[in-house]
Amino acid sequence: MSAAAAATGHASSSLAAIGFDRARLTAGDIVSRSPLDGRVLGRVPSIARADYDATLARSRAAFIVWRAIPAPRRGELVRLFGEAVRAHKPALAELITLEAGKITSEAAGEVQEVIDICDFAVGLSRQLYGLTIASERPRHHMLERWHPLGPVAVITAFNFPMAVWAWNASLALICGNPVIWKPSEKTPLTALALHSLFESVARDFAEAPAGLSALIHGARPVGEWLSDDKRIPLVSATGSTRMGREVAVRVAGRFGRSLLELGGNNAMIVAPSAKEDLAVHAITFAAAGTAGQRCTTLRRLYVHGSRYEAIVARLKRAYSTLKVGSPLGADTLVGPLVDAQAFEAMQTTLAAARAAGAIVHGGERVTVAGHEAGYYVRPALVELKAPIEASERETFAPILYVFRYDTIEGSIAANNSVVQGLSSSLITQDLSESELFLSAEGSDCGIANINIGPSGAEIGGAFGGEKETGGGRESGSDAWKAYMRRQTQTVNYSATLPLAQGVKFDVE
Ligand code: NAD
Repeated sequence: MSAAAAATGHASSSLAAIGFDRARLTAGDIVSRSPLDGRVLGRVPSIARADYDATLARSRAAFIVWRAIPAPRRGELVRLFGEAVRAHKPALAELITLEAGKITSEAAGEVQEVIDICDFAVGLSRQLYGLTIASERPRHHMLERWHPLGPVAVITAFNFPMAVWAWNASLALICGNPVIWKPSEKTPLTALALHSLFESVARDFAEAPAGLSALIHGARPVGEWLSDDKRIPLVSATGSTRMGREVAVRVAGRFGRSLLELGGNNAMIVAPSAKEDLAVHAITFAAAGTAGQRCTTLRRLYVHGSRYEAIVARLKRAYSTLKVGSPLGADTLVGPLVDAQAFEAMQTTLAAARAAGAIVHGGERVTVAGHEAGYYVRPALVELKAPIEASERETFAPILYVFRYDTIEGSIAANNSVVQGLSSSLITQDLSESELFLSAEGSDCGIANINIGPSGAEIGGAFGGEKETGGGRESGSDAWKAYMRRQTQTVNYSATLPLAQGVKFDVE
């Protein structure tokens, strides 16, 4: 038995205890293929329209019950779910590795992120703070309160097949909303496993109504049903900018809200004072880690002219020795691309870069014994003198464009020159440079880091980006407000009716 097959068996048996039985997932149009070796892991059917409508009806009914449950009790359900995820962490992580191709430590990190956001949401369930506001009228007071919104649809991408749902669901649930999850058609099994776990916890939680959380499978058409559905006040969608543009228009057309987490084209600036080891480590993790398949992956590197030759030489060395292989291997740092399409997109982009005069190092397919059908690649370094069409867009693969820069102002302008605005970073020991980068004249991204790469965010901060990254914020800080409706309330405890702004309207 191969290592991958053995691991599948282990994960399946551990998860069978909570109702997830991969062996039964043999029929349906959605085929889960392992990026490791192209093997079919399971099949699930897309939801039919009638079942979709029944799911939505259950979700609406669940809302009527759940919105009246005190928020700290809602938090208790999320706490219990977080505990269950803790107990099943290794099995869930294995499934992520098998279905999304993440190396073991990154897969475990993703499950940890689910646990962390549950913990965060539990605390938040006692902190859905509103405001009291001074009224201009005597014996009046004003309040701002936050109320549950209604069913929240969560559309997720393949590359964070558990964490993105958890970011949304844990907050939506403590805010009093049911959740309907449509995962990527590339990662249905991880979704099934995590959702089975949630269902088993919710079944034993007396206040949780049936239909509080639903999992529906399907490709783009099902995503379109969710976007068009007036019963869903909020659609949170994570994926490509192409997808977000379609969702945004449909949801806005019915005056719904959308929370969009879309593609990035993230940069790092390496300044004259940068610590070299730190810079090289930060670059390789951010650019080659997760095989370049993070929304926050480092895609553009600006190195000061005085450090260019040395940094690029170090990177070439580091890139040529990065262990590419099965993500189950203990020392593997770069696992496979998700599928053939991702490999072809990478090769097409590299060919375009070469045609535009770039010097390309690496980027070729790597054969991994026993996994010949998987799409493994050596991460690519692409030296450029000036931006080209390819460096302006996101290719979801490990391609790092490297530029030389002269002034900090010029490098910040270059950082900000693309249409995406997710994450950014600066490696420097110079206080004035780092302050400039973090100031209103600095990075225009949703995330700006000093002396770490652009990837690897913690759940405590609001996560998301500007411009064509969609403008949404999820996870920490006050991102919870997106899942609630704000109500301004005025209470008059006098016997008269003074009007605001001194307006007179006397009646007999
Ligand atoms: P994708 O856009 O192909 O698919 C994402 C999800 O959207 C899937 O569930 C898919 O079925 C659904 N979908 C596709 N078209 C749709 C439509 N017209 N209406 C409704 N739903 C639709 O993305 P992917 O290849 O799975 O993931 C990679 C992309 O996701 C990259 O661009 C990456 O940067 C982005 N991403 C962004 C973040 C973030 O937080 N900003 C996080 C992870 C991934």
